[in-house]
Amino acid sequence: MDSKNMNIHEKSGVVYLTFPMFDKYKFVKNAFSTRIGGVSKNEFASLNLNFGRGDCDRNVTENFHKFCLAAGFDFSTLTASSQDHHTFIRRVYAENRGIGIFKPKDMQSVDGLITNEKNVTLVTYYADCVPLFFLDTKKRAIGLAHAGWRGTAAKIGEKTVKAMVREFNSNPSDIIAAIGPSIGPCCFEVDTPVYDEFMKLEEIKSDEFIKVKGAGKYMIDLWEANSRIIKNAGVPKDNITKANLCTKCNSGWLYSHRALGPKRGGLAAMICLTEDNNDN
Ligand SMILES: [Zn+2]
Repeated sequence: MDSKNMNIHEKSGVVYLTFPMFDKYKFVKNAFSTRIGGVSKNEFASLNLNFGRGDCDRNVTENFHKFCLAAGFDFSTLTASSQDHHTFIRRVYAENRGIGIFKPKDMQSVDGLITNEKNVTLVTYYADCVPLFFLDTKKRAIGLAHAGWRGTAAKIGEKTVKAMVREFNSNPSDIIAAIGPSIGPCCFEVDTPVYDEFMKLEEIKSDEFIKVKGAGKYMIDLWEANSRIIKNAGVPKDNITKANLCTKCNSGWLYSHRALGPKRGGLAAMICLTEDNNDN
């Protein structure tokens, strides 16, 4: 692995990643999955954590159990998003646990989740889109948001910070944020309509995150765009960390939509507030 900003772990054959910046706080757990250590076969091999992509639900559930056991999450606390590339942020509570995992979804269009309750594990899904992790280290609240290019351009990073300010009275300067494994500036090539959406982001200069390739093609750095959007929402620059890990360049062990096409499994990000002094 070429990223120095994430730790890599292996337990019982399951490989997963965590952010050292979050690992320092003993009242929170964070993890990002890989393809390694699950029971799914063929194009879903092997740790597919997405329901509804053609893999059988029994395998996906088994993969969630294996991942939780390895990374130290309680399966009964998982609470999932319902992603559709919009920017609605849902506050969830203990009573919502199980939604999207072992209870039916009860809402459409939830691309971000926040909570300040312990033992509610937020779960969002990925295969190139950008995972955004948030922790208010003082008020002890967390957030997780799914930022594809649409969510990035619609500033879901800023909307998540604002939701934490509104719901938990968070001070953005107490928030730490992490930008997870996703398609990198090396691989995210777009054409003019997508470029035009990013040019509407007036508060960040296009040359800070867009390279013009010519012939109507552009390379967009979604990591830098999200980082600057989160910084503009008041989170100090030094509180923002990037995985710097491209899913497309690493599609042998991370699912990538652009590398593998639509018949593939999916990755999951998780974060959960726990009892203090948890030394797992
Ligand atoms: Zn790449």
